[in-house]
Amino acid sequence: SWEASTKEWGYMRPLPWRRSKMTTSFTKMLSGRNTAMLLASLGAGTMATAYLMTDSNTVSAEQRRKLYPPSADFPDLRKHNNCMAHALTPAIYAKLRDKVTPNNWTLDQCIQTGVDNPGHPFIKTVGMVAGDEESYEVFADIFDPVIKDRHNGYDPRTMKHPTDLDASKITNGVFDEKYVLSSRVRTGRSIRGLSLPPCCSRSERREVERVAVQALAGLKGDLAGRYYSLGDMTEKEQQQLIDDHFLFDKPVSPLLTCAFMARDWPDGRGIWHNNEKTFLIWINEEDHTRVISMEKGGNMKRVFERFCRGLQQVEKLIKERGWEFMWNEHLGYILTCPSNLGTGLRAGVHVKLPNLSRDNRFGKILENLRLQKRGTGGVDTAATGDTFDISNNDRLGKSEVELVQLVIDGVNYLIECEKKLERGQDIKVPAPIGQFRK
Ligand code: ADP
Ligand code: MG
Repeated sequence: SWEASTKEWGYMRPLPWRRSKMTTSFTKMLSGRNTAMLLASLGAGTMATAYLMTDSNTVSAEQRRKLYPPSADFPDLRKHNNCMAHALTPAIYAKLRDKVTPNNWTLDQCIQTGVDNPGHPFIKTVGMVAGDEESYEVFADIFDPVIKDRHNGYDPRTMKHPTDLDASKITNGVFDEKYVLSSRVRTGRSIRGLSLPPCCSRSERREVERVAVQALAGLKGDLAGRYYSLGDMTEKEQQQLIDDHFLFDKPVSPLLTCAFMARDWPDGRGIWHNNEKTFLIWINEEDHTRVISMEKGGNMKRVFERFCRGLQQVEKLIKERGWEFMWNEHLGYILTCPSNLGTGLRAGVHVKLPNLSRDNRFGKILENLRLQKRGTGGVDTAATGDTFDISNNDRLGKSEVELVQLVIDGVNYLIECEKKLERGQDIKVPAPIGQFRK
């Protein structure tokens, strides 16, 4: 049961349960009677109409929803291709529909983005988001199978997630720059006790910004920089940062808007970066914070070294102010999208592969190497020309060091294939990469 695993995870709940008491006369009328029976005898429409006329200002939305059985609310997922749609059964939905987290976040809010976006043109999406740290426990019956599907069989009930930020372990970390144009490593971190972007209030979002920006002022040396609030930027400055690949896109993607992440835009959002623009922190985009190390060229080892050093300093500065990151040993670092749990790490390159990308084995090779392909303008863009964003597909169950090494070895394999095709030689589809250490 999820109660057992909650105990095992054993961290302090940051907020008390705030479930409202049901005290209206209407509820008293219903209490002790079987709502389903009433609905069956009166018909749901009659019931809802009568109630709306008599008590519409005092009965909560939650109670109104309970007038209908969960089966009447089950979303139509027949045309859907995302992890949530494949995992959500009427039984799971029925069990979870009326539960709420300490921040009053519901299952329907978690899955709305996956209901409204049956598919994505370029990647298989997860189809659900968390509103707070507790979403992953309260709705574990759906999050767990989704996590298992998305993360190559990782079982969040039995497996433990490793962390390793020792960049000195990396080998062969410098790519052939004839092919690799730029290298980047990013992760996300969430601040415990504050709701995640789909659910947060304006004040919570501004608190995230305040906590992060105050902490980041403590960064020294090559990491020292400053914060640029989106609200204070001109449209031109903002577009320039987006075009140069430093800043997140505007929240026009339905994946984000249907997950309630564009609310109040651009309030509380911004980017912190060092003077070189090689260490950057996004504030209040899809996660509380996104920590990024990047540079032109193929030196992934150096990018990862700066990433580890910067990230560890950021965590220290946040902790000095009495805050901590959301984390537990089964899920690793807790982020908004289940695809980012664990390390939250996406290590990627912009790489030119004109021959390989036209070969019909390209997709299978990427799949077996656990690599993901995106367009160079970000997750919602198609590939333009011969250049792709190639990164690790998984974030959970393997450490940061393992994932960066997987990307290095995988991208070097792709470059080898590209060179062979240039010379008219044949290429091989590699065997699928092994499972997790248990
Ligand atoms: P993320 O997973 O970090 O949210 P997105 O796909 O949303 O990544 O892209 C965010 C931005 O980062 C885009 O502008 C994209 O072009 C840029 N980006 C991603 N990877 C690289 C890379 N290897 N080199 C340069 N820019 C990159
Ligand atoms: Mg993104």
